[in-house]
Amino acid sequence: MTSGGPRILVIEDNLMNLELVLDLLEGFGGEVRTATSAEDGLEIAFEDPPDLILLDVRLPGMDGLEAVRRLKADTRTAHVPTLALTAEAMKGDEDRARGAGFDGYVAKPIDTRSFSDTIRRHLAERGRGARG
Ligand code: MN
Repeated sequence: MTSGGPRILVIEDNLMNLELVLDLLEGFGGEVRTATSAEDGLEIAFEDPPDLILLDVRLPGMDGLEAVRRLKADTRTAHVPTLALTAEAMKGDEDRARGAGFDGYVAKPIDTRSFSDTIRRHLAERGRGARG
């Protein structure tokens, strides 16, 4: 019974990063679902599209680039803001991420101070409709 809080899906195979993201999302008061593979994450997203998706680029099996292509190609999830979780050191990652269809990105290691602003900004883009 969340009263209007955002519904966020986090797809991340690194459990330490996943825990950090969950901690940081707690303040949003919505509902957070998690998956540790793109395959599981896509299933959740298609079944019940969230308000925002955080998607690790580097995943075992299907990677985040292929996963975001599938999300953006599907009418159920094409409108859902999807942010890449990318390792800052990998310079080409950001360009590849945007090329694949990501709406933005969060660099790892995660800057805990700017994280919430980034999430809030992208949730606001979706805004209308989510508030019934
Ligand atoms: Mn990973």
